[in-house]
Amino acid sequence: MNEIVLLKLGEVVLKGLNRRSFEDKLMANIRRRIQHCGAFSVCSKQSTIYVEPQEDGCDMDGAYAACRQVFGVIAVTRARPCAKDKDAILNCAKAYLDGELRAAKSFKVETKRADKLFPMTSMEISQYVGGLLHEAYPHLQVDVHTPELCVHVEVREKAAYVHGPSQPGAGGLPIGMGGTAVSLLSGGIDSPVSSYMIAKRGVRLELVHFFSPPYTSPQAKEKVVRLARELAPWCGRMTLHVIPFTEIQEEIRRACPEDHFTLIMRRFMMRLAEAVARRTGAKSLVTGECLGQVASQTMDALTVSDDVCTLPVLRPVIGMDKEEIVRYSRKIGTFDTSILPYEDCCTVFTPRHPKTHPVLEEVREYEKALDVAGLMERALANVERIKIAMEIPETQSVSE
Ligand code: ATP
Ligand code: MG
Repeated sequence: MNEIVLLKLGEVVLKGLNRRSFEDKLMANIRRRIQHCGAFSVCSKQSTIYVEPQEDGCDMDGAYAACRQVFGVIAVTRARPCAKDKDAILNCAKAYLDGELRAAKSFKVETKRADKLFPMTSMEISQYVGGLLHEAYPHLQVDVHTPELCVHVEVREKAAYVHGPSQPGAGGLPIGMGGTAVSLLSGGIDSPVSSYMIAKRGVRLELVHFFSPPYTSPQAKEKVVRLARELAPWCGRMTLHVIPFTEIQEEIRRACPEDHFTLIMRRFMMRLAEAVARRTGAKSLVTGECLGQVASQTMDALTVSDDVCTLPVLRPVIGMDKEEIVRYSRKIGTFDTSILPYEDCCTVFTPRHPKTHPVLEEVREYEKALDVAGLMERALANVERIKIAMEIPETQSVSE
């Protein structure tokens, strides 16, 4: 095969004695993410993971793109293997990077020699290959400090590899190494970003969405399913737990003061999310709350919702400006869906003057008018569970 994908490990390399299990998880995640691209072998050596096609017709573009979304990897590059011989390396560079070498104005060769038995040092290889490339492409200037093109040569155990610049990987830690969390996914901009950020730290997600038919439409629910699918290339397979919320909201409206609607509703969201966490073995909750963004996101309001939680509530976008959250949302590919104009259950029965500095004891008192346990039980008895899998391009078939 004349091309492979090389992945550089990120923080995984700092894991000391646990490193092996992190690497194994990462490789398993990679295998799953590229299985629709054909047969590949995935193995790791010296802080690098090698993704090698095993048959003709493997979808290299697809595998490369998928690898860029796997957490635990800091850099990704396509490379061409060749024999461990100085002229084979030179010819490989000419053939593989011809376009780049013609287009660049300046270049250098950088060599890493992991195979210490190779008869030349890194410096000697760079000088040899660089010198002859310079002869073959006389328009090129040698610039060892800020070259436009860096030709990388890696001499490793099995073969030598030639590649151009690498692209950043997704960073973070392999999903599955950090346990499981329940992420509350609305149809907005913030919660897909907060889900992504916690998944990036190696956490598997269970998604929870509250919907209130007929106040919220089927399209609003479809939008959330779509957001979940857009997260899947980053976060892996997930289950979306869709929890009916209409009765709870109607009851709050009937029995509680209007300025406390949202606060009490949020306490129900947290309680129900914890119930899902207990069922799924998740050890924390994730929300897209951001300090001061809306009335229910002041410190006093957060105190009121945390009051019903025993698990830690992770709020990765708590300190971000909207603009920063939007930037992430565009980067991960959820923004265009997030801004589709379908209502969320939070916008149903919005109080005209929401309480921004609630008093916990008062909220607890108002809630006594509600049958909290009964409402929870009925909502949890009617949860719809939707499996969110990776979206496979239509032309591909899945090999299980
Ligand atoms: P977002 O952009 O994520 O909707 P927001 O600024 O609109 O956030 P709120 O609507 O107050 O904020 O919701 C705060 C957080 O509560 C959301 O980020 C999400 O984690 C959770 N949440 C809100 N509505 C729902 C819902 N219908 N289903 C599940 N979680 C929700
Ligand atoms: Mg919202």
